[in-house]
Amino acid sequence: MYPSYKEAKDLIIDIGRKMHEGRFVSANDGNITVRCGDDEVWATPTGVNKGDLTEDKLIRVRISDSKVLEGTWKPTSELEMHLNVYRTDNEIMSTVHAHSLYLSTLACSGIELDLPTTPAACAISGRVPVIPYCCSGSKELAQSVIPYVKDYHVVNLGNHGPLAWGKNPHEAWFRLEDAEASAHLAILLMQIGRVRPLNKAQLETLFSFHNVPMTPAGTVQLIDSNANQEPSISFTEYFKQIIQ
Ligand SMILES: [Zn+2]
Repeated sequence: MYPSYKEAKDLIIDIGRKMHEGRFVSANDGNITVRCGDDEVWATPTGVNKGDLTEDKLIRVRISDSKVLEGTWKPTSELEMHLNVYRTDNEIMSTVHAHSLYLSTLACSGIELDLPTTPAACAISGRVPVIPYCCSGSKELAQSVIPYVKDYHVVNLGNHGPLAWGKNPHEAWFRLEDAEASAHLAILLMQIGRVRPLNKAQLETLFSFHNVPMTPAGTVQLIDSNANQEPSISFTEYFKQIIQ
């Protein structure tokens, strides 16, 4: 069941506002698409701040041949990348691309996000690989995401930023937002220099309990550790340890 054209456009405008207010994008960064039929999506145009989207700026595009079916604004140069996600998996209902700071930090350092920190990080976004760099807007970039669509929920375009997809209109945005929070958390843990991961058995229980559809490739690191069953330590004591 697809959203109506009105519902799809409202979703894009709402997600765009959240991306802008949450500083997931600067200037005219980022793109959003929502599927509204077997072979069509509504998409954001090029050159517009995602906090300034209005219905008349959005365009309706055919998935199979990229033809603009409705709207007068110019499509984003990243449109083919988004359409390739839909062409690879018929169940995808939305895609979201942003330049959020913490995931972009990992994209520019070539570090994939796989730290098993919180249940949300492990079950909502999962492992976020970094795709080798391709020029933005290029055919190579559009093609580079195809091998990742079936196995992952979010990928990080090398030296660029994240792209997420989902099987309901909100899921892509939730996954992107969760992956960004997880990247932020992982970088803070690195600054603290201490982490007690969720272990393999805990993750298996979590995925089974919540019926999480995670592929082996898309699953975070599986670790045999029981460190999170041990007593916590006082921040003051830890602080003393690290400044000595
Ligand atoms: Zn971009």
